[in-house]
Amino acid sequence: MPIFQRKRILVTGGAGFLGSHLCERLLNQGHDVLCVDNFFTGPRDNIVHLIGNPRFELMRHDVTFPLYVEVDEIYNLACPASPIHYQQDSVQTTKTSVHGAINMLGLAKRVKARIFQASTSEVYGDPEVHPQTENYLGNVNPIGPRACYDEGKRCAETLFFDYHRQYGLDIRVARIFNTYGPRMQPDDGRVVSNFIMQALQGEPITIYGDGQQTRSFCYVDDLIDGVLRLMAAPGGVTGPINLGNPHEFTIKALAQKIIALTGSKSEIIYKNLPTDDPLQRCPDISLAHDKLDWQPATSLDDGLVRTITYFETLISA
Ligand code: NAD
Ligand code: UDP
Ligand code: UDP
Repeated sequence: MPIFQRKRILVTGGAGFLGSHLCERLLNQGHDVLCVDNFFTGPRDNIVHLIGNPRFELMRHDVTFPLYVEVDEIYNLACPASPIHYQQDSVQTTKTSVHGAINMLGLAKRVKARIFQASTSEVYGDPEVHPQTENYLGNVNPIGPRACYDEGKRCAETLFFDYHRQYGLDIRVARIFNTYGPRMQPDDGRVVSNFIMQALQGEPITIYGDGQQTRSFCYVDDLIDGVLRLMAAPGGVTGPINLGNPHEFTIKALAQKIIALTGSKSEIIYKNLPTDDPLQRCPDISLAHDKLDWQPATSLDDGLVRTITYFETLISA
C-alpha cells in the first residue's frame, strides 16, 4: 500500500459542475482543497455543503488575473462550458482559457506543482474522423460562434505543451467529452439538463435539427475517476487523453429515453440546428484504457435516473 501524502490542491472553477464533484472527491481522499472561482457559471450552492470543512477553502478570484498561492497540485477547470454561457461574453471566454492557462502555468512553474488542464472534445470541432482519437488534429472553424471556446481550449493545450517542453512542467491534459449528472445548471442550455427540465415540467422537448446528430454521454462520477487517475499516473503520461463514454446516441434517442424514464407526456418539437453544431461525436478511449486502466462504469439509464432525481429535488425545493 502506498503511503498517503496529504496535499494542498488548487481547483480552479471549483464551484462549477465538474469542479464541485472534484473538490468533494479530493476532500474525501484527505487532501486540503483551495477552490478558486469567480462564480460566473458555478453557483455557491454547488459547494455550500463543503464550506464547514476545515480542509476546504474558497476564494473568489478570476483566473485571468495572476494568483499567488502555495499549492502542491493544480486542477485548471475554470471556463464556462455550455454554449449559451461561453457565447454570452465570447471575449472573456477566450481570455479565461488563454490568460487563465498562462497564469496557472506560471503558478505551477513557480511552486513546481503538477498541473491538470480540463480540455475538451471541442478541440476536434466538427470531426471528420470517427470515433475521435487523440492524434486527430480536428476541424474547427476559427471564426465561428463556438471558436472562443474551441480555439481558446486549443491555445491552452499549446501553452501546456510549450511549458512542458520549455520548462519541464509536469502537465496532464484531458480532452473531456460531454459529461452530465447532478449539479449541472438547469438553465445552462445543455441537452441533458434541457431535456430533463422540459420533461419534468411537461414542456415540449426541443430537438435542434433533425435529432440525428450524435453525442456520447459520460456520468460525472466516472469522469472524475478518470481525471484523478490521470493526475495520479506516473510521470510521462502528459496526455492529451480522451475521457468520455464511448456509447454513442442520437439526440432523438436521448429525448425518447428521457421521456420514458420520467414518464413525461411532453411532445417533441424541432428547432433550428445552431451554427457549427458538430454532427457526431464519440471518443476512442483506448489510450485511457491502456494508460490509466480506466473506462466508464455507469450506463446512460442509471446516470440519467440519478440526474433526474437531482432535478426533481431542485424543482420541488
Ligand atoms: P461549469 O460552467 O459548471 O464550471 C466552470 C466553472 O468555472 C464555474 O464555476 C465558473 O464560475 C468558473 N469560471 C469561469 N470563468 C472563470 C474565471 N475567469 N475565473 C475563475 N472561475 C471561472 O462547467 P463544467 O461543466 O463544470 O466544466 C468544467 C471544465 O471542464 C471547463 O473547463 C470545461 O471547459 C471542461 N469541460 C466540461 C465538459 C462537460 O461536459 N461538462 C466537457 C468538456 C470540457
Ligand atoms: N503567475 C501567477 N502566479 C504565480 C506565478 C506567475 O499568476 O505564482 C503569472 C504571472 O502573472 C505571469 C504568468 O503567470 O504573467 C506566467 O508566468 P511565467 O513565469 O511563465 O512568465 P513571466 O512571469 O516571465 O511572464
Ligand atoms: N441540443 C438539442 N436541444 C437542446 C439542447 C441541445 O437538440 O435543447 C443539441 C445540440 O444542438 C447538440 C447536442 O444537443 O447537437 C448537444 O448539445 P450540448 O449543448 O449539450 O453540447 P455540445 O453541443 O457542446 O456537445
